[in-house]
Amino acid sequence: STPGRTRAREDKIVVTVRLRPLNRREQFSKDQVAWDCVDHHRIVCKPQVPEHATQPTSFAFDKVFGPACLTETVYDEGVKNVVLSALMGINATVFAYGQTSSGKTYTMRGITEKAVNDIYNHIMDTPERDFTIKISGLEIYNENVRDLLNSESGRSLKLLDDPEKGTVVEKLVEETANDDKHLRYLISICEAQRQVGETALNDKSSRSHQIIRLTIQSTLRENSDCVRSFLATLNFVDLAGSERAAQTHADGTRLREGCHINLSLMTLTTVIRKLSVGKRSGHIPYRDSKLTRILQHSLGGNARTAIICTLSPALSHLEQSRNTLLFATRAK
Ligand code: ADP
Ligand code: MG
Repeated sequence: STPGRTRAREDKIVVTVRLRPLNRREQFSKDQVAWDCVDHHRIVCKPQVPEHATQPTSFAFDKVFGPACLTETVYDEGVKNVVLSALMGINATVFAYGQTSSGKTYTMRGITEKAVNDIYNHIMDTPERDFTIKISGLEIYNENVRDLLNSESGRSLKLLDDPEKGTVVEKLVEETANDDKHLRYLISICEAQRQVGETALNDKSSRSHQIIRLTIQSTLRENSDCVRSFLATLNFVDLAGSERAAQTHADGTRLREGCHINLSLMTLTTVIRKLSVGKRSGHIPYRDSKLTRILQHSLGGNARTAIICTLSPALSHLEQSRNTLLFATRAK
């Protein structure tokens, strides 16, 4: 049983990196590509980059996806197993982590779409089980929690501690999806709702976290009087821009304190770092932020986590990209 257990341990947090292409604006301003994906596991800083000699220049991960990679490949190789686990009753979370404009929302939208396909294909292929898929959507902005399926709910939703369910978001709307089309429609409502107010607060998208949460319940009739049920939460999290996280040394001490540090993001990075260290990490500060409280039961323990770290290739973003890769390295 030891090899199996080792594998299970390794699979709990899967960290991948996705490098996007240079965008039109970067091309127009003659920005340079600072990174090379040398193979499917390694990304390196190009030799002509000035800081090359003094900084770490090569990083290795479970998977590295280059600028020509499709979201489908990112899903198949970095996320699919985590989604399949949720169908078997194991809580799971998929994150997109990276600086603003690195491709988090682009990646997360595509990933969610692929996951919905997979979930309904699995339902079709598993006629012996009856499935119920429910969805809720929420946004955390300045530690205020907003319901993305209920535009009426103005004030921040409260978090409550339920003795059985753990942290629950009070009054959060949860809809049952009739089929895949209906689920896609509900997801599109969450996305539209997230954009409300974005023009008025132009840095809102860089400061807010969006969670699309699916609850997957299924029952299996083994024989006439025995029923097994499975229940799992599957979260898709489009995080605030990582430039809002505090930069830390490998030992966790603060390197630099910006004035716009995002409490939820900072706490999440600490939680993930501690989870990746394993048993020796001691107390895990889930309760220090709204995001980590809401995700507590889908992080650590038996839960599966996929973290896609998105990266801008631009030389002008070199420092932030390096910070993202350092985070990714510690999350492994
Ligand atoms: P973020 O959510 O991290 O701020 P976005 O997902 O909004 O970043 O991406 C910024 C821009 O780059 C968008 O116009 C998006 O369409 C584009 N983009 C991001 N990732 C890719 C990619 N892998 N391939 C092509 N375009 C991308
Ligand atoms: Mg975004």
